[in-house]
Amino acid sequence: MRRVTAPEDRELSDPPLLGCYDDPELLPAAKALARIDEHVGTLTESEEVELRDALGRVLACDLRSPIAVPGHTNSAMDGYAFAGSELPGEGTRSFRLLGTAWAGKPFAGEVPSGCTVRVMTGAMMPAGTDTVVMQEQVECTGDRIAVTSGHRIGQNVREAGEDLEPGARVASEGKRIHPAELGLLASLGIARVRVRRRLRVATFSTGDELRSLGERLDPGTIYDSNRYTITGMLRRLDTEIIDLGVIRDQRAAIRSAFAEAAERADVVISSGGASTGEADYVRETLGALGRVGFWRIAIRPGRPLAFGRVRDAVFFGLPGNPVAVMVTFYQFVQPALLRLMGQRPVEATPLLRVTCRSRLRKKPGRVEYYRALLSREADGTPVVHHTGKTGSGLLHTMSDANCFILLSEESGTVEPGAEVDVQPFFGLV
Ligand code: AMP
Ligand code: MG
Repeated sequence: MRRVTAPEDRELSDPPLLGCYDDPELLPAAKALARIDEHVGTLTESEEVELRDALGRVLACDLRSPIAVPGHTNSAMDGYAFAGSELPGEGTRSFRLLGTAWAGKPFAGEVPSGCTVRVMTGAMMPAGTDTVVMQEQVECTGDRIAVTSGHRIGQNVREAGEDLEPGARVASEGKRIHPAELGLLASLGIARVRVRRRLRVATFSTGDELRSLGERLDPGTIYDSNRYTITGMLRRLDTEIIDLGVIRDQRAAIRSAFAEAAERADVVISSGGASTGEADYVRETLGALGRVGFWRIAIRPGRPLAFGRVRDAVFFGLPGNPVAVMVTFYQFVQPALLRLMGQRPVEATPLLRVTCRSRLRKKPGRVEYYRALLSREADGTPVVHHTGKTGSGLLHTMSDANCFILLSEESGTVEPGAEVDVQPFFGLV
């Protein structure tokens, strides 16, 4: 059984090995995104989970309310319930107080003419009443309640079914469940929901220089940080992660990592070894075991980004540089993963148009993603500053930033004071 439905099972390599490393052409970012869209389908399998375990999962079907909301006509205020037609048109009228209706503890019996019942917010409206007067607006003397004119029949009352009729749609297929949905579904008594199966994502780092935490750093070696950022970003998307560790720069090792990853996962993400160096076997392996979608994209950072398919799995070969890993993940991999998970394309994270206080050097011809800080000046003007260094190995530039500045392909150098497109991390991650 195919685990994924593709729009069409069309060849990824069209033309074969398009954009491979000896191709001087760089693929524009927008084309790369369109191609990912074209070739990535949606998981079809689903499972039922307890509502308490559903946070972060994606709904596999529409949900309809089994009940009316509110379930009963109730008071919107602390006050007194009357038959609205008995309230005075002018002057004052006095009513006899019969008792109290609490939220969850209704008043038993009918309220006869000339009488009233004290009602708390959320209390069921006693039979014979349809209008609530706020407690601050009556005069209370013993069991007599005096009301003046100026009230509207039906005021301060929430009608049964006013928010939702039974059968009304409350959440659509493809909706990711956030805390608001947990509360909404709980309020309707929905205890179990059908959600898409979790996406299984295998990831590994490549590089002879990489050491895992706890290992000794010999001269020339570095700690593998990419697996930490990648698994962190994957956890945020509520995926099932298969961590295959560090793979040495050896053809056989890379091939067997590819094969194992594709066997076990829906998506395979590697980092490093994706450029044109002697020891960069990722592209070669993708070409040998799978199909190459595109290879080099006109972006900075992150130019060598591989996309393709190995058996049934979608493959992303990210660059090695830690910042490039994060940029390419958020800009290219995350949209693909969301699509695979069946998350309805929500409005893309809105780009803000903000005044830039830094000078950003750039040549037209590629999209650039600057790490930056969005803030407000003393007079309230939103502004953005570049975080300083641009080196794609400097992970602290991501850590210091709270947004990307997106500079389009056509854009040249940006002078301070110009407006730029800003993509806040908030909502994106
Ligand atoms: P590569 O694409 O393999 O040539 O790697 C580009 C740069 O990123 C090199 O400086 C690598 O040492 C570095 N790099 C690659 N993989 C990782 C990793 N997992 N963690 C930290 N740095 C890495
Ligand atoms: Mg390498």
